[in-house]
Amino acid sequence: MRTHAVAIVGSGPSGFYAAGALLDAEDPPVRVDMFDRLATPWGLVRAGVAPDHPKIKSVSTQYEKIAARPGFRFFGHVCLGEDVTVEELLERYDAVVYAVGSQTERRLGIPGEDRPGSLASVDFVGWYNGHPDYAGLDPDLGASRAVVIGAGNVALDVARMLLLTEDELRGTDTADHAVDVLTASGVREVVVCGRRGPVEAAFTTTELRELNDLEGLAVAVDPAQVPDAAGDADLPKATRRNVELFRSWAGAGPDAGASRRMEFRFLRSPVAILGEGEDGPVTGVELGINRLETDDEGRVRPVDTGERETLECGVVLRAVGYRGVALPGVPFDDRTGTIPHVEGRIEGREREYVVGWIKRGPTGIIGTNRKDANETVRGLLADLASGAREDATIASAEEVEEWLSGRCPDLVDLDGWEAIDAHERAAGEDGGQPRRKIVDRTAFMDLVREQARAQ
Ligand code: NAP
Repeated sequence: MRTHAVAIVGSGPSGFYAAGALLDAEDPPVRVDMFDRLATPWGLVRAGVAPDHPKIKSVSTQYEKIAARPGFRFFGHVCLGEDVTVEELLERYDAVVYAVGSQTERRLGIPGEDRPGSLASVDFVGWYNGHPDYAGLDPDLGASRAVVIGAGNVALDVARMLLLTEDELRGTDTADHAVDVLTASGVREVVVCGRRGPVEAAFTTTELRELNDLEGLAVAVDPAQVPDAAGDADLPKATRRNVELFRSWAGAGPDAGASRRMEFRFLRSPVAILGEGEDGPVTGVELGINRLETDDEGRVRPVDTGERETLECGVVLRAVGYRGVALPGVPFDDRTGTIPHVEGRIEGREREYVVGWIKRGPTGIIGTNRKDANETVRGLLADLASGAREDATIASAEEVEEWLSGRCPDLVDLDGWEAIDAHERAAGEDGGQPRRKIVDRTAFMDLVREQARAQ
């Protein structure tokens, strides 16, 4: 059987796991072209995982191994819908896999949400991670208190990043522009607000536990909000560990030696983000106080008691989940923010597949994407093995390259990315950083062109 060709749109974890599984195929063998709208691959591993979590980021070595395999190519600065269309890809490949993740935020839908100083975690995370789209965010971190809305790991990431000391920040790959702002920040207290209780919070234990290791950080929670130990036996193991941590913080009392403080405030929903007039900067958050109720399906829901409290602050981070964005020419379910599919095969379409967060929604850890991608690739390979594409003519690897070079003047291939990567790593060496990120398209292209000339 001839070698089949698959295009993967998106180069984050799910795209790489799909690529790895496709390159494993032997009958028929498959070659993979991976596209990204950015110059750089790895998606959220580069632009989402917190810079003080280098161990999590080191999963990228797996992706480097996949990228080094015969049959794999990378094409950066290619945006689906702007530079190329779905139809053009389907003309040139046997199949197309969408691996574009969830690129925007879930909205709160409350007054004041768009005031200056009310920031989506998607933007803030992109900013400190050097994502070119958010490099200009320039948040005002002058006030001493920040409020984070949400009780998941992203809320914890942004809360921690706001409170890291200069020493903790310097050895990371946080973008230079963010290091400057974060080290000069006046924020000394972050209040993390969850709409339900510690039992229902989405934090994972490892991420909570590491708060104990941060320099000069006191963690606080109102003891009245933490269930007592009598109910521990009924809790799942991971939840019990979380509750035990909250209990230890609730019992700790004020830490006189602490220079920074993180408080968890549960049973609080934001009702309005406050400030002067309609678009004055953030001065506080109005919180509704909830009680919990278990519905008929056993789900614990927050119910507004009608009571209110106001928390003064200078910045609000909204971390209530991500949301997928529709791709031009690709089906989209606006309700779930995902592409409708059956086991990864896009509904109503042939030769189009989906993996990762745009398939199942923004849940799970990086490794979750491996199983998810394997499911999709199993179906894709079965479709190819059926022989349906045997008589189809597709573009050769050279024809694709010629087409893209004509279409995308700032095309970045794997060699180009490797030149960027080597440059960033070398630039980080002096400061003991894993890398110093480039965030500017012109700077990326200078390196790519220099590398091409040297070849
Ligand atoms: P998440 O885990 O789904 O958490 C979202 C949080 O927002 C929940 O606490 C949710 O509360 C709350 N929320 C939703 N709508 C709200 C509203 N209208 N008002 C107030 N609160 C609201 O999402 P995430 O934190 O964005 O993380 C996404 C995924 O990435 C997760 O699977 C996470 O574990 C993973 N991640 C992992 C790491 C890591 O391993 N280090 C780091 C970052 C992210 P309810 O539960 O009440 O809905």
